[in-house]
Amino acid sequence: MLIVMQVRASEQQIEKVCGVVREMGLTPHPIPGSMRMAIGITGNKSRIDEGRIISMPGVVEVIHVTQDYKLTSREMKPEDTVVDVLGAKIGGEKIAVIAGTCAVESLDITMKVAEAIRSAGSIMLRGGAYKPRTSPYSFQGLGEEGLKILASAREKTGLPVVTEAVDTDTFDIVAEYADIVQIGARNMQNYSLLKKAGRARKPILLKRGISATIKEFLLAAEYIMSEGNYNVILCERGVRTFSDYSRYTLDISSIPELKMLTHLPVIVDPSHAAGRWGMVIPLARAAIAAGADGLIVEVHPEPEKALSDGAQSLKIKMFEQMMKEISLIARAIGREMA
Ligand code: PEP
Ligand code: MN
Repeated sequence: MLIVMQVRASEQQIEKVCGVVREMGLTPHPIPGSMRMAIGITGNKSRIDEGRIISMPGVVEVIHVTQDYKLTSREMKPEDTVVDVLGAKIGGEKIAVIAGTCAVESLDITMKVAEAIRSAGSIMLRGGAYKPRTSPYSFQGLGEEGLKILASAREKTGLPVVTEAVDTDTFDIVAEYADIVQIGARNMQNYSLLKKAGRARKPILLKRGISATIKEFLLAAEYIMSEGNYNVILCERGVRTFSDYSRYTLDISSIPELKMLTHLPVIVDPSHAAGRWGMVIPLARAAIAAGADGLIVEVHPEPEKALSDGAQSLKIKMFEQMMKEISLIARAIGREMA
């Protein structure tokens, strides 16, 4: 349910409504809009008797949200959510690009990549310190040392950093260093991790599970938001299909669908979808053309020496080429690069 407040509703009126909602054993979620405040309500198992709320000062109307996911839905919040990370914005009109190595390998490599992607127009640095690898024998990441490398790259370049938390045990340390905490495809339905992310004060980049439907994806985001963290970015990164020519199949049609169903920013990871570098730029172009709010791309100065996902990592020159091409597409569809 959604309570729409009057344009000039006072702080006190809003707080009073929230208080009544709490008294009913429910959770209020104030959602500021450009014009007025709305208050989302979760926690109800059945239809709420709205009589008590509708008569309160400052309340315009009460709307029943029909979707299973509530806080993530556009019904609840028609305006696009813009996630602001140290001044770098994801969502809204501009297109944001996050780039970096798959795993953090060394300060030298991270710095090389960070400087290159920043000059090419990227607004955030990615790199995994804790890696969810398919094989237990593969490089598992540098752990806290990797987080420290990311922090010093941020200090030197001013780029906010995105890095993954793979479990609840290491979530807090990751959140301490990261500007955005990534929850990977394999963890999209790890509900204890999602709840933990919901209680964190850092924005969350949630990747779509490899076999997740759109509804499951949005309900995973709902887990985070229902705990009070409204800064969630969705990432389409390809789903498992019968096709065997790419690592996953990038679900381009999920982009307009998600943009219609949710106010959350939607970005695309063409690297993990492709699995090989030659396909990354075409998929990146398609994602922007289909309406994605940004990209997260793997870049490595020497992909052949990368400790993980070298085959799908772009060399710096290729990344610069990708940025040029997608900025042309952005302009063609009336958008611009962040
Ligand atoms: C990653 O971005 O480093 C990653 C492991 O991606 P995914 O969870 O989409 O496989
Ligand atoms: Mn990777």
